[in-house]
Amino acid sequence: MDRYITAFAGAVLLVTAMVARPAAQAPTAQSVLQAAAQAMGTNNLKCITYTGSGYVGFVGQTRDIRDDWPRVELAEYTRSINFDERSSRVEQVLRQGTYSTQGGGGIPLTGDQRQTQIVVDKVAWNVGANGMPAPQPAAAEVRQLDIWLNPHGFIKAAMAPGANPVLITRYESGALGGLTSIAMRKVNIISFMALGKYRVNGTINDQNLVERVQTFVPNPVRGDLNQEGEYTQWRDVNGVKWPGNFHHHTDWDDETQAPNYNGGHNSLTFTVKDIQVNNCGAPNPVPDAARTATVPPVNVQVTKMSEGVYYLTGGSHHSMAVEFRDFTVLVEAPQNQARTQAVIDTIYKTIPNKPIRYVVNSHHHFDHLGGLRTAFHAGATVVTHSSNRDFYKQEVLSYGRWTLEPDLLSLYPPTEFAEGYQLETIDMKGTISDGTRTLDVYYVQGNPHSEGMLMAYLPRERILFESDMYTPPAEGAAIPATAPPAALNMFQNIQAYKLDVATIAAGHGRAVPFAEFLRFVGKGGTN
Ligand SMILES: [Zn+2]
Ligand SMILES: [Zn+2]
Repeated sequence: MDRYITAFAGAVLLVTAMVARPAAQAPTAQSVLQAAAQAMGTNNLKCITYTGSGYVGFVGQTRDIRDDWPRVELAEYTRSINFDERSSRVEQVLRQGTYSTQGGGGIPLTGDQRQTQIVVDKVAWNVGANGMPAPQPAAAEVRQLDIWLNPHGFIKAAMAPGANPVLITRYESGALGGLTSIAMRKVNIISFMALGKYRVNGTINDQNLVERVQTFVPNPVRGDLNQEGEYTQWRDVNGVKWPGNFHHHTDWDDETQAPNYNGGHNSLTFTVKDIQVNNCGAPNPVPDAARTATVPPVNVQVTKMSEGVYYLTGGSHHSMAVEFRDFTVLVEAPQNQARTQAVIDTIYKTIPNKPIRYVVNSHHHFDHLGGLRTAFHAGATVVTHSSNRDFYKQEVLSYGRWTLEPDLLSLYPPTEFAEGYQLETIDMKGTISDGTRTLDVYYVQGNPHSEGMLMAYLPRERILFESDMYTPPAEGAAIPATAPPAALNMFQNIQAYKLDVATIAAGHGRAVPFAEFLRFVGKGGTN
């Protein structure tokens, strides 16, 4: 007890001393930014080129929803940023390395994946292996935003005319990288709106270094998705300070706090090798194809596979619609609202005057569940594996307001969002039937691509819909010498459930006779 009294007396003395001192100028957003620019050498930095290596985490592609994002090696990385030109060029090599081969996003990677990603102001493109530009209009805004999320970009954007930065001063307990230190410290946070839309918050420490930059980016599954970079191990190159380590989170770093609905958060860790101050890199002349590119309209093609069974293709991700007496079942609501709404509109034309009663979700990867909220808003109950229940209920069909790209569920939440039942979960097998037709939904056990994987089977029509376990190669293309583990596991599940499949309708690629799948997994005959 004595100890506390002493401490308290000390505090009183300290307050007295502070009052007696002449009043210091209170910091303002501008004074904090100027001190940071001075300490970091921002005003002398027009361009930067830096290299290094580390890992990349594939957002929304975990095997188990409670896992962190699956990683691949960022084997080589060179980035040049020209702040005046508002341009960035990334050249990188991704490699499977020694990381786990379970999960999605192309895992396991075969060989080196070379990528060149460029943005110049509002125009974005990639450079393909053939050297040709591949316009990326949908990626342009977030790539532009990313120029302002590194420490110097942050200071420059916050000090730009019209940025109107505000200063928030707070005491922080805990520190970067965990709760190893509970020492309280005072930090300055500068906040401004970037590109008229994104609130960007930078934490500036007592050495006037920008150690964390946080914002939100729009995401069809998570809404306003947390995106933050932590910058440490600062180096000094000709009076310019640049971090030697980048660590990024996409989604919240909250896996230590139960309940853990969704474990994904670490999306990048990067150790800097070489820093070249004011090296602007190669020029980036904007290709005409990229300058004029717009996001292509959603295209939905309908193929009737059997009476009342329709394969819905036309983009990268496919769905299937099955007509019952009084309702329709949608199998797979992929990508985002634009895709799934177009699929739903097409179903209403193809199968008029029936509600979509159920939406069957193959697995929890973000590109296969990005339209789930849209289908739910249209009235469908979500059919998914029981292992996804908590994540879907708490974080996908969430009550959170989406501000960056609000969707139907965020803008017009229906009353049954709270009252009704939203999910029908499958453990091993579920059946949707109305006496006229049957659709069976099976749990695919032990699939390396994703835990909680489902496949949908029409026993009378002998049609199986699956995603990501088997993507039929283009007609006439070579088949792999050894069967990919995800496809082989699917074969074993089909055998275990004794399914008499005639046709596979794949979530990517095309619909194929079952014999083609058998040849793909090395189980076919000699024909
Ligand atoms: Zn997947
Ligand atoms: Zn897929």
